[in-house]
Amino acid sequence: MLQEFRYGEKVLPNFINGKRQEPQGEEKMEITNPATGDFLCTMTSSTREEVEEAADAAAEAFRTWSTLPVSQRIERLLLLRQLISQEAENISRLIVMENGKTIDEARGEVRRGIENIDASFAALYFMDGRRTTGIAPGIDEELIREPLGVFAAVTPFNFPMMIPFWFIPYALATGNTFILKPSERTPVTMNYIMSRIEEQGIFPPGVLNLVNGRKGTVDALIDAKEVCGISFVGSTTVARYIYYRCNAARKRVQAQASAKNYIVVMPDARLSAALPNMINSFFGNAGERCLAGANLVLFERNHDEVLKKFTDRASELRVGYGLDESTEMGPLITREHRSRVISYIEKGISEGAELELDGRELNVPEYPKGNFLGPSVFDDVSADMTIAKEEIFGPVASVISAADLDEAISMVNSSTYGNMASIYTTDAAAARKFKLEAKAGNLGINIGVAAPAATYPFCGYRDSFFGTLHGQGGEDYLSFYTERKVAIERWF
Ligand code: NAD
Repeated sequence: MLQEFRYGEKVLPNFINGKRQEPQGEEKMEITNPATGDFLCTMTSSTREEVEEAADAAAEAFRTWSTLPVSQRIERLLLLRQLISQEAENISRLIVMENGKTIDEARGEVRRGIENIDASFAALYFMDGRRTTGIAPGIDEELIREPLGVFAAVTPFNFPMMIPFWFIPYALATGNTFILKPSERTPVTMNYIMSRIEEQGIFPPGVLNLVNGRKGTVDALIDAKEVCGISFVGSTTVARYIYYRCNAARKRVQAQASAKNYIVVMPDARLSAALPNMINSFFGNAGERCLAGANLVLFERNHDEVLKKFTDRASELRVGYGLDESTEMGPLITREHRSRVISYIEKGISEGAELELDGRELNVPEYPKGNFLGPSVFDDVSADMTIAKEEIFGPVASVISAADLDEAISMVNSSTYGNMASIYTTDAAAARKFKLEAKAGNLGINIGVAAPAATYPFCGYRDSFFGTLHGQGGEDYLSFYTERKVAIERWF
């Protein structure tokens, strides 16, 4: 029996103004374990009134929170860091149980979440304004940086813990208050974390709130008078909608969106070292990662060798329940999503691509109710086929041939999306050319998942990002979460 972790709530509460409240919305969704099919709990949507209550509570809390010295806010974030570190294993197990990824992937996710708390401590310096004494005779000038009010984040299912932490610590460190709307498909982890935050009284009431729900809850968040900005991570369709709706309401918005990532393997690449890294890129998190490899670009000189080794290794991946430490790939998030991925495999076949490895044949007899799908590898894909253009978000690799590096880079740059692109090579000049010419937000040189560290912004080109200031640490969060004003001063 694998060691599961139980969060006691069967109907997930909202956390508003330091209190748990059962949401009163009409929509209800059963959250089940994607590997076992076991029922975990019910997610009930929040009503517009409940969202407004959260926004009002956060606005009230802002009055005091924003006036605290930064160091005092950081003291609270240190307590949060301690809590998450102590709870890391429980949180990781919950992530596996609601999302399906492997326990190692979940542990990595929690580590990355914690790194974002650490990176937010830079606000201690960043919040300083600047001052010029004597900008003109007898006149001094000062730049003052201040928080804005209530921010909210709307997050996707694939990183239930890490992605909320791309925003929460930075918004709070800079003096804002916050409302999180987690994914309705993986709401349990952040509900559990909020319950522990509340039990330990880490933040004053109203500073950090959570509302459950779906589109109606998100619309209510954007409309709420007291909410001044939204951070979104999810699909491009929803990102575009949220971006325009926030703009119409004159709210700040950053919206990170879908991906279709190219991985280019040059004939000079060190294949033995690259292969495990490439496999992790395409099939880690069962392909449900915005930094996952999707299109594998090969050349005449290395096509057959790389295709064979890649397909052989993919076919050996151990697929199962992520809590089993030996599992290398977990299930997909839902039955519906599995069917959607299968429909892409069918589309690939009908458009003439060659299915070298068919993940539909996989059987995991211990977990007959799991949403399992094995790795699939297509050869003879062209860049204009549906499977090469659209985000599948599952364990499907498409091998595309290119004549040379210029053609490979041109494929990267012609994609609708521009989230990540990677090259494997031993040629520094080729790597440099790729780094300078490939238009994607996150670039990997012999790195299959080019995930920026917490102190760097998470970038994206074209339909992978809407806005100008990116999420995570780095310099952008300061501009997103604060406003500046300049005071010019003379004393008679
Ligand atoms: P999704 O767009 O379905 O949902 C994301 C969030 O939006 C959820 O909280 C959901 O409740 C809300 N939402 C859904 N439909 C809505 C609507 N019509 N109006 C308002 N809100 C709505 O995304 P998902 O399936 O949870 O996540 C997978 C997607 O996220 C993939 O496209 C992936 O590439 C992307 N993603 C991007 C990044 C990035 O940094 N660029 C990171 C992770 C995931």
